[in-house]
Amino acid sequence: MKCPVCKTKNCQTIELEKNLNAATCEACGGHWISRKNYSTWLEKHGETLPEKQFSEFEFDTTDAKDAKLCPDSNRILLKYKVGHGLDFYIDHCSGCGGIWLDANEWNALQDKNLHDEIHKMFSTSWQSKVRGDQMAEKLDQVYKNRLGDETYEKAKATRKWIQDNPQKKAIIAFLSDDNPYEI
Ligand SMILES: [Zn+2]
Ligand SMILES: [Zn+2]
Repeated sequence: MKCPVCKTKNCQTIELEKNLNAATCEACGGHWISRKNYSTWLEKHGETLPEKQFSEFEFDTTDAKDAKLCPDSNRILLKYKVGHGLDFYIDHCSGCGGIWLDANEWNALQDKNLHDEIHKMFSTSWQSKVRGDQMAEKLDQVYKNRLGDETYEKAKATRKWIQDNPQKKAIIAFLSDDNPYEI
């Protein structure tokens, strides 16, 4: 099998993990995992590991820029953003279901326990959560710029206190009344 990034280089079969074979390109470090290999591994792997909130290590996960073709079916691979704190895309063939991971992406996924959820990343629910998270990040920055770091932190803490409080409505009424001691 030819590497979809390097084009001319042949990939070698390696055991990426116990029960999971991948075709790996020694030149660019990318991995091709067929749908069959991935789902067989998933079945043997058992329960989905809990996602880790933070990465332990930092991996250089630079996406190969050019569009790639599926090494099996020659279709264009579609890109899916991983999100969940990881800033790279995974390439997927909608024809044969194969997955292409650029160098270090497998390790980065493994580090967050997301390597057993790759199949979910191609779903609309995963992708809309990724977009929602991106929007929230942008808005977070907007508020930070508008209020300044210190005031924003204070506002967030106050907001949380109010939101969690059973007397939320009464507190908001009290706060928003310019003169609560006058009827
Ligand atoms: Zn390559
Ligand atoms: Zn394919």
